Amino acid sequence: MGLRKGESIDYIGDLIFASVKDEFDSVALCSKNVTSRTFSVYYPHLRPGSDRYAVVSSTNANWEEWAHLSPEEYKRDKGCLIETTIDALEKYLPDIRGKLDLVEASTPVTFHRYTQHARGATFGTKFEGLKVSMDLPKQVGGLFHAGSVGIIMSGWLGAINYGVIVAHEIENFMYNSGRAADSSSRGYSATETQGALS
Ligand SMILES: Cc1cc2nc3c(=O)[nH]c(=O)nc-3n(C[C@H](O)[C@H](O)[C@H](O)COP(=O)(O)OP(=O)(O)OC[C@H]3O[C@@H](n4cnc5c(N)ncnc54)[C@H](O)[C@@H]3O)c2cc1C
Repeated sequence: MGLRKGESIDYIGDLIFASVKDEFDSVALCSKNVTSRTFSVYYPHLRPGSDRYAVVSSTNANWEEWAHLSPEEYKRDKGCLIETTIDALEKYLPDIRGKLDLVEASTPVTFHRYTQHARGATFGTKFEGLKVSMDLPKQVGGLFHAGSVGIIMSGWLGAINYGVIVAHEIENFMYNSGRAADSSSRGYSATETQGALS
């Protein structure tokens, strides 16, 4: 949600976790009937050079609830998501609706279209993806995978952390391969080579 040029909002915090659910319910968390939202509020002081304000609302969603709609149903449901999100934001910023210039919404179908991620996933796999990824070089020597596979945490920070770990693995692999190649060209025995690799 982008505010019209010249419009502003008071500081209400950078991240607002909002829920109208009485208790934790993981099914409700992903339901199209949204009860929990995270609002990220972007103020000009955090973006030097800009005098504009924006709010991003994030919610969980199920691929199945979005993937099989007709174009009309999809448009209708996206419109509903936008309206109910503005309604929810009005609780914190009562006059926000009249200040908005641009509002757009994305769904798992949008993420699938732009990222090609299976079922429109945003944050990669949970821990089950890690073993598959780590076992790759055991099956095909020299083939490594890095990405958001649930090490430490998912998202871009998890992807970076895992990238560092995999870079280290690749360096080890290259180093050991180099030592093996070196030793064979110098005519070392198999036992000596084995020692260098271990
Ligand atoms: C809308 C949105 C908001 C997000 N917000 C946050 C956030 O606030 N904080 C956070 O931590 N994380 C966030 N994430 C998640 C984060 O962006 C991802 O977890 C992270 O980028 C995953 O990195 P990756 O390298 O595993 O995958 P990607 O960044 O998806 O990289 C995969 C690459 O592989 C390429 N590719 C795919 N298939 C092929 C193929 N067959 N051949 C060649 N190339 C291919 C793709 O083009 C892409 O460049 C968000 C994601 C989305 C979609």
